[in-house]
Amino acid sequence: MTRRAICFDLDGTLVDSLGDIINAFRAAIAEQGFPPPAAHVVRPLVGLPLHDMFATLAPEGDADVMSEAYKRIHRQTFTETSTPFPEVVEVLTVLRDKGFALAVTTTKDTPMARELVTALGLLPHLDLVQGTDGFPAKPAPDVVDHALRAISAEGTWMVGDTTHDIGAGQAAGLRTYAVCRPEGTHDRLMIEAAGPDHVEESLLPLLDLV
Ligand SMILES: [Mg+2]
Repeated sequence: MTRRAICFDLDGTLVDSLGDIINAFRAAIAEQGFPPPAAHVVRPLVGLPLHDMFATLAPEGDADVMSEAYKRIHRQTFTETSTPFPEVVEVLTVLRDKGFALAVTTTKDTPMARELVTALGLLPHLDLVQGTDGFPAKPAPDVVDHALRAISAEGTWMVGDTTHDIGAGQAAGLRTYAVCRPEGTHDRLMIEAAGPDHVEESLLPLLDLV
């Protein structure tokens, strides 16, 4: 029988990493001599491909140079304040006990995503960490499709904190669960406009849906 799988976004969904991410964006922009944007300007863009983010945040700069700077800085600092959200280990454990295969499907590249997942102790709770390695990013369905192929599983839910995650899940034919936390990447109005099947403030209610 084909295993059923649940796909999770990483940043803002499983891990509370927004502070480190925003700081790395601001540092990468400052390094190129441009004024770093305020955190509330960076926050709603998180989850887009790096190049698109820098093209928006510092249009007069070289987005490729800043993307490389971001990766270098973020790799050095990505666990300064980042932690898994409090309910994550419990939720992943229960879902696995129910027989689900669990995959991270993130816009980060796979090596970077694996480093973060490993550093925060989540790797043993997951079947796969699938990054976006040179194919179209969410809201395109590619990262979800790659993950499901890699673990030979049938997708059930896509869980994420942004409209990009909801779009990717919908495009891949999965049900979609949005986690809309206080001070999250996208606010509830934005999330609801994307039409997810379910919106909650944590991952715990997912356990009653599957
Ligand atoms: Mg996210």
